[in-house]
Amino acid sequence: LLADDGSLGVTIFEEITSLAVRTGALNLGQGFPDQDGPAEIKALAREAIQSGANQYAPGKGLPELRHAIAEHQQRFYGLQPDPDREVLVTTGATEAIAAALLALVSPGDEVLSFEPFYDSYGAMIALAGGRHVTVPLAAPDFLPDAEALAAAFSDRTAVVLVNSPHNPSGAVFPPETLARIVALAERHGAVIISDEVYEHLTYGVPHVPIATLPGAAERTLTISSGGKTFSFTGWKIGWATGPAEVIAAVRTVKQFLSYSSGTPFQAAIAWGLRQEADYFSSLAAELQAKRDLLADGLRAAGLTVHLPQGGYFVNADVAPLGVGDAVALARQLPELIGVAAIPVAVFCHPEGAARNKSLLRFAFCKQESVLREAAARLAALG
Ligand code: PMP
Ligand code: GLN
Repeated sequence: LLADDGSLGVTIFEEITSLAVRTGALNLGQGFPDQDGPAEIKALAREAIQSGANQYAPGKGLPELRHAIAEHQQRFYGLQPDPDREVLVTTGATEAIAAALLALVSPGDEVLSFEPFYDSYGAMIALAGGRHVTVPLAAPDFLPDAEALAAAFSDRTAVVLVNSPHNPSGAVFPPETLARIVALAERHGAVIISDEVYEHLTYGVPHVPIATLPGAAERTLTISSGGKTFSFTGWKIGWATGPAEVIAAVRTVKQFLSYSSGTPFQAAIAWGLRQEADYFSSLAAELQAKRDLLADGLRAAGLTVHLPQGGYFVNADVAPLGVGDAVALARQLPELIGVAAIPVAVFCHPEGAARNKSLLRFAFCKQESVLREAAARLAALG
């Protein structure tokens, strides 16, 4: 949790976003949309505030949101969580991840994740006293090698943390990879925590929740968030679903992290989850077109693009430009050409950072005009 110089660290997202703001650069670093989600959902949050939904919500979440989450899991995936015992509303997926790791990991336990990994995983595993064991994901497909995966499990593995669609790579794990993870988790008695915040953002491939695989539901805690699905990342309404005893453990920790989560936003997100299938597929189609636009720009600038199957980000290799250190480049890029991006190495431990040292992550959840302008500015790199 400390920066290289020993000071208390700020996250890379804070660092690059402040740099982008200071230099006036186009921010393709932090993954947040630069346009708000549906106007009806905003109106519902306003109405909720006007009508007095401004005090603490029940700790486990408003009943209407818990029901909407359960119905959404049933409608899209055939899962049937009990809204009273198997659903918990959290302050973003971030709190669900934190509370789950604090609840399920004892000091000395091993927690397995894929690498590169979303930054909060490493920090929260450390705060829980766990030992973070990683399985590398490498370009171009960013899928785990079956032998490396099996070798990473041990009798100390308490949790395996899955994230598909994956941040930062955009990999979507196919069912056979997920089935391998389930079999290994079963063999080693590990709980699966599955971070599915990008569940609706896949491009030409289906999202398969790991909890739908045979033998998985009884050991899987699934986490998602309204941030990505409704383009309201600042509302911080997330949730976890899974076996009642796991939800009870996570809820126990959540009580002392935030107690409860933003009341007026919960009602609005509940309505969002009940929208027609069209809403969800159009969002993915729009993002797919943006992905392709940015990927074309990056290719034209001479970078090697690893086209993602899901999520908000394109990873691109700067080695063809004769640049070896993408971390140094990311710190210069805003001033150099007016575009901000995040180096993939920051999502890694030192060995993984060395493997990914020439990769940059660019967010494409931005307006088309911004992506076109970014592509034009990137051309200056070539
Ligand atoms: N997990 C992943 C993989 C993410 O990319 C993010 C945020 N972009 C989160 C969790 C956090 O989600 P939230 O904003 O709902 O806390
Ligand atoms: N998840 C977002 C990303 O990967 C950032 C969220 C944050 O700033 N913690 O860019």
